[in-house]
Amino acid sequence: MGAKAGMAAWARALAGLGARTAGALARALYPPVCIGCGAFMEGAKTISDPGSASLHEILSSSFCQDCGTKIKPVNQPFCTVCGEPFASKEGPDHTCGRCAEKKPAFASARAALLYDGPVKNAILSFKYARRMALARPLALLCQWVFLRYYADAAHDLALPVPLHGRRLGWRGFNQAWLLMEGWKNDARFPSPDRRILRRIRNTPVQAGMSKKARAQNIRGAFAVDCPQKIGGKRILLVDDVLTTGETARECARVLAKNGAARVDILTLARVEK
Ligand SMILES: [Zn+2]
Ligand SMILES: [Zn+2]
Repeated sequence: MGAKAGMAAWARALAGLGARTAGALARALYPPVCIGCGAFMEGAKTISDPGSASLHEILSSSFCQDCGTKIKPVNQPFCTVCGEPFASKEGPDHTCGRCAEKKPAFASARAALLYDGPVKNAILSFKYARRMALARPLALLCQWVFLRYYADAAHDLALPVPLHGRRLGWRGFNQAWLLMEGWKNDARFPSPDRRILRRIRNTPVQAGMSKKARAQNIRGAFAVDCPQKIGGKRILLVDDVLTTGETARECARVLAKNGAARVDILTLARVEK
């Protein structure tokens, strides 16, 4: 029996056991590893409801203690619009200079963590090494961000930032879509839909581009299919990382142009300025 067939047989055997026993057996066979560094984790707690867990609890369910000390949460005060944390750690949240000067097409952007260290490792290996085992813990974090910032925002729809067909074909999945796993059957979350916003132009990879180059690069890259579905609706746009925010700005602009009443942006992480 090959390794793959062996795994499949194990999976079938596990599925035949009670969920609890299967869970214990799975942990014994595949002990949980840290999603930031791959180290084995002793006694990591499983989170059943992200709504009643702290960020610390969410993180320690999937990152080891060592990585935990390197993770930087997005702390207040931050811009009430774009969510950018202020260098000064004092005082209340307020609008940053950039948003005050020109209000973006989105109403707010929120993220849980700064895109650095173990968080960056986890997201990169999910996206580029296609480690699907990371989908669940990252989706759990995504749920936490939603419940922390948008539980009462009454969004009608949640849309993933779309990939172009060619990149989707290469990667095999849209990471933003997988982050919304489970939303469909949970009334606390807006209904996810991946068909409304479409990427019509495959843009060169933006890493290393300046803010201005990114803005030009992304312009006209998105289109809305069936605008009647978003007319007057409150929309949550979901992605893994907010880099300069140009992609989010462009998506929000296109959604607003097609009649969306409000657009908010949720990402797991954001790049520190
Ligand atoms: Zn670790
Ligand atoms: Zn701002």
